[in-house]
Amino acid sequence: ARKYVVKNYFEGYPKREDYEIVEYELPPLKNGEVLVKVEWVSVDPYMRAYNSRKTLPYDQSGFQVGLVEESKDPRYPVGSRIISHSGWCDYCIIKTFNSSETIWDPYKLPKLQGLSNSLAIGALGMPGATAYFGFLEVCKPKAGETVVVSGAAGAVGSLVGQIAKIKGCKVIGFAGSDDKVKWLEEIGFDRAINYKTADIAAALKEAAPNGVDCYFDNVGGEVSNSVISQMNTGGRISVCGAISSYNGPSGATGNIPLMTVLYKQLLIQGIYVDRWFDRLDELIKDGTEWIKSGKLQPREHITEGFENIFDAFVGMLKGDNYGKAVVKL
Ligand code: NDP
Repeated sequence: ARKYVVKNYFEGYPKREDYEIVEYELPPLKNGEVLVKVEWVSVDPYMRAYNSRKTLPYDQSGFQVGLVEESKDPRYPVGSRIISHSGWCDYCIIKTFNSSETIWDPYKLPKLQGLSNSLAIGALGMPGATAYFGFLEVCKPKAGETVVVSGAAGAVGSLVGQIAKIKGCKVIGFAGSDDKVKWLEEIGFDRAINYKTADIAAALKEAAPNGVDCYFDNVGGEVSNSVISQMNTGGRISVCGAISSYNGPSGATGNIPLMTVLYKQLLIQGIYVDRWFDRLDELIKDGTEWIKSGKLQPREHITEGFENIFDAFVGMLKGDNYGKAVVKL
């Protein structure tokens, strides 16, 4: 079997030489284990963000869809599929009896009604749960309100914007290219803004002349400062991520305009997807329904091949992806 091992602390964007592909023999299977052939793996921003907190070297973890080829757990028969956080490998052994029921523990591939299994690590998995619960439970959007999403063309952001449209909101997204802006407007965003070229505050003022009620923040930094400054009284902010700081000097997340928070009585809440994982079935139910009826279009940015996982990862960090970046093995 082969797996990616991280050897270094990243400086700036991760480099190929920070990783080593290690070939190794899989040991015989024990009770409570399954052997899987990995079919899909996920590349996500947190893999960059947590690197400095890990002990080196470490196996690159991450969500994957695996096809069970040998099983010593009757709950996962040969031929069934399992979602686990077992990372960037082509074959691996998964321990199935460690469940404390968090998103990081293995679970059976949910019933996806004929949709692609890859969605189980995207719109109908961890990123989907982040968007669905992190937006609906924290921002509590009402029809007619103005919602702003940063990182809007990515896995989580593109779902948040579409869910906000389903809930009858006006939606404005920030993304990093004119082509992404075009795509977001095609899938129903009322307005999208290229944060790399626009005067952020002025463009937002023009797009949201009546102010912002809900802000779903994936990026932090200057975009967030501008959005928060333009929030209405009683506005809600879901702090999901701060990718603008992940590859640069640590902590460069900008200064939150706290006096605006005070005067406008804003609610700011950090979210961590784990909190809602025992409710995944709610996402699967609404999500599959929305996708099947065409209300939700979960785009995927698919890279092929085990050897290309690293490139897919860095490409995602640099903004190559539209929607969820996944790798098909
Ligand atoms: P995305 O699919 O959004 O991919 C990352 C995107 O970030 C890129 O496509 C790029 O798009 C954008 N980006 C890169 N650098 C910058 C920058 N300097 N400023 C602004 N945008 C940048 O990833 P995910 O949807 O998986 O994750 C989005 C955010 O959500 C991340 O911050 C992640 O850490 C967080 N997250 C949090 C979770 C939680 O439980 N709290 C769970 C899952 C994700 P562009 O072209 O627009 O720059």
